[in-house]
Amino acid sequence: MAVATPYSDQTDEQRAITEMVRQFVDEQVIPIAEEHDAEDKFPEAVVEQMKELGLFGVTIPEEYGGMGLDLTTYAMIVEELSRGWISISGIVNTHFIGSYLLMKFGTDEQRQKYLPRMATGEIRAAFSLSEPGLGSDVQAISTRARKDGDDWVINGQKMWVTNGLRSGLVFLLAKSDPDAQPAYKGMTCFICEKEPGKEVNEGPYKGLTIPPKIKKMGYKGVESTELVFEDYRCPAENVLGGEEAGLNKGFGQMMDALEVGRVNVAARGVGIAQRALELALKYSQERRTFGKPIAEHQAIQFKLADMATKVEAARLLTRKAARMKDAGERSDLEAGMAKLFASETGKEVVEEAFRIHGGYGYSKEYEIERLYRDAPLLLIGEGTSEIQRMVIGRTLLKRHKI
Ligand SMILES: Cc1cc2nc3c(=O)[nH]c(=O)nc-3n(C[C@H](O)[C@H](O)[C@H](O)COP(=O)(O)OP(=O)(O)OC[C@H]3O[C@@H](n4cnc5c(N)ncnc54)[C@H](O)[C@@H]3O)c2cc1C
Repeated sequence: MAVATPYSDQTDEQRAITEMVRQFVDEQVIPIAEEHDAEDKFPEAVVEQMKELGLFGVTIPEEYGGMGLDLTTYAMIVEELSRGWISISGIVNTHFIGSYLLMKFGTDEQRQKYLPRMATGEIRAAFSLSEPGLGSDVQAISTRARKDGDDWVINGQKMWVTNGLRSGLVFLLAKSDPDAQPAYKGMTCFICEKEPGKEVNEGPYKGLTIPPKIKKMGYKGVESTELVFEDYRCPAENVLGGEEAGLNKGFGQMMDALEVGRVNVAARGVGIAQRALELALKYSQERRTFGKPIAEHQAIQFKLADMATKVEAARLLTRKAARMKDAGERSDLEAGMAKLFASETGKEVVEEAFRIHGGYGYSKEYEIERLYRDAPLLLIGEGTSEIQRMVIGRTLLKRHKI
């Protein structure tokens, strides 16, 4: 929803979908967010409604039971979900990345096997790169996969896995050739099945344990966990893309998925900034100091002006990156710029809205307090701002080499 201007770049279909999602968020998400945040409780009922609305299959092709919509429309939906509560968008984010990996790199059998159940939300997906010793430096991954008969045996520890407990599939990057130089040439993406909600997996999924969820400052409700692999057996048919095409190709596949993931995080930044702006616009017209609403003080108006301008700019950058990807164009630079700008905008606009709330911003009675704890995650996930700047700088120089 554009605040500054009624101009819309949405098609009729996109407008109808985003209005539907906004209504859902206003009626079903915002009213429960505070309680679920306070108790760090998974929003089970909201997730069931999201399944009914088809939100787990937005980008999955219709032949597999999804909506078959493009990344641009998906980004618009994510913005709306994140406007309500970023944890809700976190539940679909890793799932979306998993379905993207299957659609782009999976074999026909892998697509047939997983996508229909992913489209309905019957199984949800997690995405696992990070380990206790690394996040930005993905090539330092130490989780090891060794071939044994028809299986790959996985050992190692993963960290910060969003949806780590409730997911039924984990798209996992592990080292399949430890001698490869450079290291990225020896990494494979494994589609690891597990039992959703089970801490100690048994039977065919034996060897995968999920320790208690990590306690976080914000981004509550959706769990972030470690995953401990001890002789977990992944059938060779679950190498993403099949062994012949997919072995030792995992790094490139995951980096490709991160590109769409970055558009997704950018959309989350726009959503949280949008909500903070709405709260600031409302509060500043209600709160009075020195005989008038604070919105009539120029210092507050200037803040509102900068906030709205940044939200609009972040939204445009995000949609441009999404449209380029949809058009099949290279969009690593644009996705990096969108992620950097929109996540920083999310944090800055939330902070300004917090300041506009004065002391009440510090009170749990006001929604902005939750946004203030939620926003910083966006500066970290899918690559920190420092890493985005590295990607943007390198790509710029590559594109403009003299
Ligand atoms: C709530 C939450 C959910 C997450 N969900 C997932 C998930 O689902 N799956 C997953 O795989 N990961 C997930 N992550 C992990 C996330 O991707 C990493 O935290 C992130 O990539 C940063 O890695 P790090 O924490 O190891 O920081 P580090 O890589 O150790 O970086 C520390 C600091 O150094 C900076 N830095 C690092 N390298 C450079 C450099 N070359 N130049 C300049 N500065 C540098 C970083 O920007 C940062 O400021 C999640 C994290 C959080 C907090």
